[in-house]
Amino acid sequence: MTKIVSIKSALYRVPLREVLSDAKHGDHTHFELITAQIETEDGLIGTGYTYTGGRGGSAVLAMLENDLGPFLTSQDSEDVEQRYEDMQWHVHYVGRGGIASFAISAIDIALWDLRGKRLGLPLHKMAASEVDASSVSGDRCHAYCGGIDLNFSTERLLQNCQNYLDLGFEAVKIKVGQPDLEYDVQRVAAVRNFLGPDRAFMVDANYALDREQSVAAANAFKPFNLLWFEEPTIPDDYTGYAEITSRTGIPLAMGENLHTIHEFEMALQQSRLAFIQPDASNCGGISGWLQAARLAEEQGVTVCSHGMQELHVSLVAARGGVSLGEGSIPVAPGQHASVGWLEVHSFPIDTYTHRPLQVENGLAVAPDIPGSGVEFDWEKLQPHRHPA
Ligand SMILES: [Mg+2]
Repeated sequence: MTKIVSIKSALYRVPLREVLSDAKHGDHTHFELITAQIETEDGLIGTGYTYTGGRGGSAVLAMLENDLGPFLTSQDSEDVEQRYEDMQWHVHYVGRGGIASFAISAIDIALWDLRGKRLGLPLHKMAASEVDASSVSGDRCHAYCGGIDLNFSTERLLQNCQNYLDLGFEAVKIKVGQPDLEYDVQRVAAVRNFLGPDRAFMVDANYALDREQSVAAANAFKPFNLLWFEEPTIPDDYTGYAEITSRTGIPLAMGENLHTIHEFEMALQQSRLAFIQPDASNCGGISGWLQAARLAEEQGVTVCSHGMQELHVSLVAARGGVSLGEGSIPVAPGQHASVGWLEVHSFPIDTYTHRPLQVENGLAVAPDIPGSGVEFDWEKLQPHRHPA
C-alpha cells in the first residue's frame, strides 16, 4: 500500500495551427488539455491527462479539484482497479459518462503511470500481460492519420494527404458529412485516386447523417474500397448501426463517444461493428480502455483507438492484433482487417511531450520507458495555462 498524498490538476488551452472542422462540432481553433499529477507517500509522481475539442475543460478541472482529488487523497495508489471502481460510484449520480468519465480518465492514467514506474514496466507490456501468447502483441501497430478536414478544399485535402505520406504514414481518414453527398463522393474519389488502390482509407461522418442518408452514403462510397465508415449516425442509435451495415455491407466503426463500459456493451451487442475505437481520455482511462478491449476481443471486434496517439500507441500495440471472429463483418482482402489501427489525431498533444509519436515503416512504435510513456514538456505547455 502506497498512499496518495496530493493531486495537482491544471488546464491548458492550446491553439491549433489552423482552423479544423468536422460535421457536427463546427470549427476547432484550439484543444484543451487537462492534466492530473498524483504524488504518493514514497515521493513518486504519476501523470495523467484528458483532452477536449476546446469546450468543457473547465468543468473537467472542477470535478478533479472539487470531487475526485479530495476523495482519493490518503487512499492506496497501488490498487488501480479498486480506485477506478470507487471513482465511478463516487460521481455516478452526476456522471455515468460525460464530464465525469473525462475526469476519471485523467486520474486513472496517472495511477497506471505510477504502477508502471513502480514495476519498471512500459505500458505496452502491462497492457499485454493478460493477452494469450498466440495473439498478435508487441511494441508497434498500424497507424493512420485522421484529418479534421471537412472545411478543406479538395486541393488542400490532397496536400494534407501528401503531408501524411511524407511523415511516413501509409493510411488516411478524412471527414465526410458535407451538406451535399455528391461533394463527399467527389472528395472520397479524389483521395482514393491520390492514395492508390492499396493504402487503407477510412471516412468519418461525425454522426451527420440519419439512417437513410447513411445507407445512401455507404452505397455511394462502395467503389472506393473503404476500410471503414466511422460514426455515420448518432452513436446512441445502436441498432441503426446494425441496420446500416446489414443493408450495405460496409464495415462500421465507432467508440470515441462511448464513455462507460455499459455503452460499449450495448454497442458491441447491438451495432454489428467491425471496429471499436475506445479513447482512454474519455472512457475511464487505461482501465476503461482495457475493459472495452476485453469485451471487443470476446466478440471478435477489432480494437482501435481515437485521439492521443502518444498513449494509445502502447495500448493498440498490445491489444490491437486480435483476429476477427466468426460472424463479424467480412472486409475485402488486403485491408488489414484483423489488426487494430492507431488514429494519429489532428490534435498534436504528442508534440507537447518529450517523445512525439515515432513511426517506422508505416508502423507506430510504443515507448519503452516505465509508466504510461507520456512525459509532458511542461515549459512548452506553460504559455497555454488557463487561467494564466
Ligand atoms: Mg471520429
